[in-house]
Amino acid sequence: MKIITSIFDLNKEIKNYKNIGFVPTMGGIHEGHKSLIKASQNKKKMTIVSIFVNPAQFNKKDDFKKYPRNIQNDIAILKKLNVEYLFTPNAKDMYKFKAKKFSLKKKDKILCAKFRVGHFEGVLNVMNRLLTIIKSKDLYMGEKDYQQLYLIKKYLSKKFKVRINSCPTIRINNKIALSTRNKLLNKRSFKKASEIASFLKKIKYRSISHASKLDLNLPDYKKELEKKYKIKIDYLEFRDEKNLKLNNFKNKYRLFVAYKIDNVRLIDNY
Ligand code: AMP
Repeated sequence: MKIITSIFDLNKEIKNYKNIGFVPTMGGIHEGHKSLIKASQNKKKMTIVSIFVNPAQFNKKDDFKKYPRNIQNDIAILKKLNVEYLFTPNAKDMYKFKAKKFSLKKKDKILCAKFRVGHFEGVLNVMNRLLTIIKSKDLYMGEKDYQQLYLIKKYLSKKFKVRINSCPTIRINNKIALSTRNKLLNKRSFKKASEIASFLKKIKYRSISHASKLDLNLPDYKKELEKKYKIKIDYLEFRDEKNLKLNNFKNKYRLFVAYKIDNVRLIDNY
């Protein structure tokens, strides 16, 4: 595996490749990330993984500071997976060239966009930069971050003619989703988060057999969970998979959640 930090060097290395599969990450590589890499490799792509903890997408400085980082461990895992290139740019280089600024349309200011103001503008900004540098036709991204996937499809896929391959969420024992932020949880919070995942899965399951999904009364479940687990839930909402419309049950839908447990913010969807 070649580890490349400079944009110039990366361009030189990859300019003749047509068959690139790109997996952008913020590091703390886990089974979720691995599944994206394997999806790219299964399609015989020359796989590039990037690790860049993007300051622009953190709306709180402290959150950026405490985001778990372990580059040596990441390198060891990626080498084992036979990834061809690891791109680890620094923030100065990433932001030194001019690039389009994005603002979200009003109807996209929902879910995390409402609770983490500026977050997705930061994500779109960095993804626009990464896709300018890495002209890949295939991007591999996780459904765990469903709204991110949705917005990148909406705002960037046409511009770059990139196919966005969405990959299912990898969970531990069918419960809590793998996430780099899980490293910030202590044992007790981790156990609670696993129980919350089971509970929410059940609600989703129950909703399938309910003719009127709204009989399930999510606000009551929200209160119950907040009280039982001493958490603060930002949102607990059913939304359409295709257009993220609220309580639209004509097509496939998902149950979206974001909550804070012991000052760690977790998101998921079922
Ligand atoms: P991150 O490093 O958290 O920015 O995530 C990098 C990519 O991995 C994103 O496309 C995520 O959606 C994806 N990802 C993160 N966690 C999981 C998971 N548990 N299952 C599948 N994909 C994931």
